[in-house]
Amino acid sequence: MPGEAATIVVVEDDHNISDLVDLYLRRDGFRVIQAADGEAGLAAVARERPRLVILDVGLPGGMDGIEVCRRLRQAGDVPVPVLMLTARDAEVDRVLGLEMGADDYVTKPFSPRELVARVKAILRRAEGPVREVEVVSIGPLEVDRGRREVRRDGEVVALATREFDLLAHLAENTGLVLSRRQLLDSVWGADWYGDERTVDVHIRQLRKKLGEDLPLATIWGVGYRLG
Ligand code: CA
Repeated sequence: MPGEAATIVVVEDDHNISDLVDLYLRRDGFRVIQAADGEAGLAAVARERPRLVILDVGLPGGMDGIEVCRRLRQAGDVPVPVLMLTARDAEVDRVLGLEMGADDYVTKPFSPRELVARVKAILRRAEGPVREVEVVSIGPLEVDRGRREVRRDGEVVALATREFDLLAHLAENTGLVLSRRQLLDSVWGADWYGDERTVDVHIRQLRKKLGEDLPLATIWGVGYRLG
């Protein structure tokens, strides 16, 4: 469906927030449907078949965002990607928990630009490797998968194999939080025997070699995000 705007359902009872999100998403060419509670949200998803759902944790009525997410996950076929809005860092564990597994989250107050960037990152990932590009640029860095080369400000930086693989994987998922476990599974392989501190050690090496000002954030208790 070329040219057709991707639909996003925003489930949030605070109209100030949903109107702001709506404004920024429309500005970026998305079609937005707002829903003010969980029931309306589920109905909108069933009706509109959106590409993504933005879901607040705190919703009025008998169903909070976590429950809505759980139901969306159970809805069968290919589950719709979900970006959660959380009010407190304490909610993050529940939001990213395996049983319900939101694709990403943003903690309030958030910048609408940041939210739109996260939405695009999730959609890129959901589309899979079809639009994969060889060279990814993040700030001063260029990650060139074709040549297995990393450049900082145009200069090649020598990395060990695993360091490169880790950086390349983070670069493929720019803007998304990846847990240590996800990184171990993707970069070292699910059958690799070792603990999650291995990831921290390699991240430290990357920062040392590429500069401490690398846009590589440590998300405490969760994992890492590049970009
Ligand atoms: Ca709310």
